[in-house]
Amino acid sequence: MPNISRRTFLKLATATGAGAAVLGSNVLFQSADPALAESTSPEVVRYTHCVQCNHGPKCGMKLILKDDKLYRIEKRGNYNNNLICAKGVAAIQEIYDPERLLYPMKRTNPKGEPGQWERISWDEALSTIAEKLNSIKEKHGAEKVAFITGDPKEPRSALMRLAYAFGSPNFGTESSTCFLATELANKLIYGPYHKVASKVATGANPVPDKTKVAIFWGTNPAWSAPFSMSGLRNAKEKGQCKYIVVDPRVTPTVHSLADVHIQLRPGTDGALALCFANSLIEAGAYDKEFVEKWTHGFEEYADYCKEFTVEKTAEICDVPQEHIQKAVDILVTQGAPLVCKTAAAWPHHVNGVNSFRAMWSLIPLTGSLDVPGGVSLPPEPMDFDQWSGTPTFNYAREKLPALDDKRVDRKYFPVWADMEDYHGGQGNLQLNPLPEYVRDGDILACVALGTNAMMWPQTQEYQKAFQDMEFIVTADFYIRPQTHDYVDMLLPAAMSFERSCPLTVYGRKLFLREPAMEPAGEARPDYRICCDIGVALGFEEEFWGGGEKAEENCMREILKTSGCGVSYEELQAASPEGITVPLKGEPQIKKYETGYFRRDGQPGFETPTGKVEFISEILRGYDLDPRPVYLEPTWSPVSTPEVAKNYPLILNTGSRVPMYTHSKQRNVPWLRALMPDPICRLSPKAARERGIETGDDVELSTELGSIRAKAEVTNIVRDDTIDMFHGWEQANVNLVHARDFDPISGFPSYKEGLCQVTKV
Ligand code: SF4
Repeated sequence: MPNISRRTFLKLATATGAGAAVLGSNVLFQSADPALAESTSPEVVRYTHCVQCNHGPKCGMKLILKDDKLYRIEKRGNYNNNLICAKGVAAIQEIYDPERLLYPMKRTNPKGEPGQWERISWDEALSTIAEKLNSIKEKHGAEKVAFITGDPKEPRSALMRLAYAFGSPNFGTESSTCFLATELANKLIYGPYHKVASKVATGANPVPDKTKVAIFWGTNPAWSAPFSMSGLRNAKEKGQCKYIVVDPRVTPTVHSLADVHIQLRPGTDGALALCFANSLIEAGAYDKEFVEKWTHGFEEYADYCKEFTVEKTAEICDVPQEHIQKAVDILVTQGAPLVCKTAAAWPHHVNGVNSFRAMWSLIPLTGSLDVPGGVSLPPEPMDFDQWSGTPTFNYAREKLPALDDKRVDRKYFPVWADMEDYHGGQGNLQLNPLPEYVRDGDILACVALGTNAMMWPQTQEYQKAFQDMEFIVTADFYIRPQTHDYVDMLLPAAMSFERSCPLTVYGRKLFLREPAMEPAGEARPDYRICCDIGVALGFEEEFWGGGEKAEENCMREILKTSGCGVSYEELQAASPEGITVPLKGEPQIKKYETGYFRRDGQPGFETPTGKVEFISEILRGYDLDPRPVYLEPTWSPVSTPEVAKNYPLILNTGSRVPMYTHSKQRNVPWLRALMPDPICRLSPKAARERGIETGDDVELSTELGSIRAKAEVTNIVRDDTIDMFHGWEQANVNLVHARDFDPISGFPSYKEGLCQVTKV
C-alpha cells in the first residue's frame, strides 16, 4: 500500500476544494515508503489517464515507478485534462488493495446464499463459460445469452464484438439507466441517425466562445466533472455569456456560475422548458427563418407552450415568479446562440424523454444548432470513440442488423429498441426489464463486466434474475456480495493503471495509454477477457487468438477501421504526445444545409418529415403523444396527495458527490474518510420539524420499505426534498424506489418518489 497518511490526504483534499489533492505544482502524490525513497533503482515513467469518474475524455496522469512499485503521480503535461481530483489520486489505494479479486473463482454453494468460492484456473473458467454458453446457444439460440457492462465503460466495444460474434443482439450497458435517453430524445428531434443524435447531446464542456446564454440544467459539473470548471469560470469572467442554472439543489455550480438559479421542484423541468419556449415565442425572440425552413410542427408546439405562462409555471415548479422572469429576461435580451448543458438527471423521470425534448427544442427554436457558440456537430467526427470503438470493430455494422429481430426489449420499449438499432446504432439492450426477461425465459445466461445489481430500483428483483439464470459470469475488481452472491463465476479484472485499452480520444486527438504495472494476481484487462472468451467460444480468428496481445490487437483493429489514417505504430511512436488527426477540409457550420445530417447526403434531417421535429412523427407512429408534453411525476404531492400525507418529502437520488462515483470507491480509505456513512440530506426546516440534527441516525422510508442513514442538515436541498446518495450496500436507496419506467426510453425514475425521514 502506498504510504501517505490519511491526515495528509484529508488536509490536501479539503484544502483544494472539490476533492482535489495537489502536492506542489505537478506532483500529486509521492510515496513516503523509505525503501522506495532510498532506492537507487531507475525511475520508470508511464503515461495513462484516470477513469475513476467515468468521464471520457479523462484526466491525464504521469506515473513514476521504482522497483515496479508506484512511487510518484504527477500531472501529465500536454494533455487536455490534468486536474486530478481526490478520486484520481486515491485510485492507488484500490490498485494495492489486499481485498482485490486476484483469481478466477467458481461458487461452491447455491446462488442466493453468501458466496463460497473456490479458486480455479483461467483455463477451467474459460472452458466452463464456453461449454455453458454454447450449450444454451445450441439448445435455445444465441439470443438467450445477454452480454452486459456496467463500470468501467471502457470494455463496451470488445463486449459488443463478443456478443454480436456469438450471435446475440442482447448486449446492454448501464447507460440504459444513465444518460442514453437524452440521446433518444435527440433522435426524436433530429432523426435517429446515430452520428447526429450522439453528437448533439452535449456534456459539461466549457461553453463555446460565442455563446450568449448557457443553461446548466440538472447538472453539477463542479462535482461530476470538476475538470471542466476552470473553462466555465473563464467564460463567466470574460463576461461572454450569462448562466442560468436550473437545479433543485444549491450546488457549487450554482455558487460558481449562476446569474440566476431556478431551484425548482424535482420533476418539473419540462414545464419550465415549455415556459421558456412560450416566452421566447411571445417576445418574437426566436429564429423565425430557421423555424420556418427547417422545423416541423411549430404551430402545434407553440400552441401547446402557451399553457405554460410564467405565472402558471412558477406555480408548477414551486419557485418565485421573479426567478423565472429573470431567466426569461436573460433569454430574450441576450439572444442566441444558446447552449444547454445537461446530465443524466433528466431521463430519471417517468416523463424524462419528453421533458428533455421540451428543453432541447430551445436549441432549434433559437437557431442555435450548428452555429458558432451554439450546439454544434464536430466537423468530420471520426468513426469511433473510446467506449464504442468503431462500428466495424464492434460488429454493430456487420452483424447486428441481421440479429435485430431477436432483441428481447422490443416488446417492452419499442421506441428505445428501434431507435437504438437504427442504421449504425449500437444495440444497447434496455436492461431494466431484466427480471421479466429471465422470468419469461428470454434470457437464460449472462456475461457481465463490472455490473452491480444495486443500480436498479427494487434491486432484489435483479438479484433474483441473476440467481434464476442458468449461468452468469461476472468480471470485477472485488467480490461484491450485493451482486456476486447471485452469480456462478467471478473473473478478476485489471484496473485502470494495469490496462492499455482503450485508446484515449479527445476530439481529433488520439493517445495511447500505457499500462503502468502488471495486473495484480491473475487479473486480466477486460479487452483480453472478451477476446479470451471469444476464442474459447470458437471465434479464434475474430479475436486474434486472444492472449497477451489481445489489447494491442483490438487497438490495431480499431485504428484500422476508424478511417483516421493513423496506425498503431505511428501512435506508439508519438506517445505520450499523441497525434491530432487533421481535418480534410475547412470546418463548416449549418451542416444540415449540406447533407451532413442525413445518411443519404440530402439537406435536412433524418426524421419522417426531413425537418427538426418539435412534434414527433416518430412518436405518433407508436400511438404516443407527439408533443413534448409535461406530466406531473408519478409520485408527487400534486399527483398522489394521499401518499404525500404519510410521505411528504420528495426523494431525490442519483446526484453526484465529489468523493465517490456511484457505488465505487467505498472501500478506499482516503475517500471513505471524506464521507464515512450513507448520508441523507435534508434542509434545516425539514430537520427542525422532525427534531433531527446533523449526525443523527435516521430512517428514510417510502411505501416500499426503509433504510437507515446519517442525517446531514444542509441548505443544499429544498425544504420539501431529501437528497440521498446511492450505491451504499448498507443503505441501498434503490430498495425503496419503485420500478416505474419512462414508456419511451424504459429508464427508471430515480428522481421521483415520496418519502418520510424520522429520527431513530
Ligand atoms: S475528475 Fe477526478 S475522477 Fe474524474 S478523471 Fe479527473 S482525476 Fe479522475
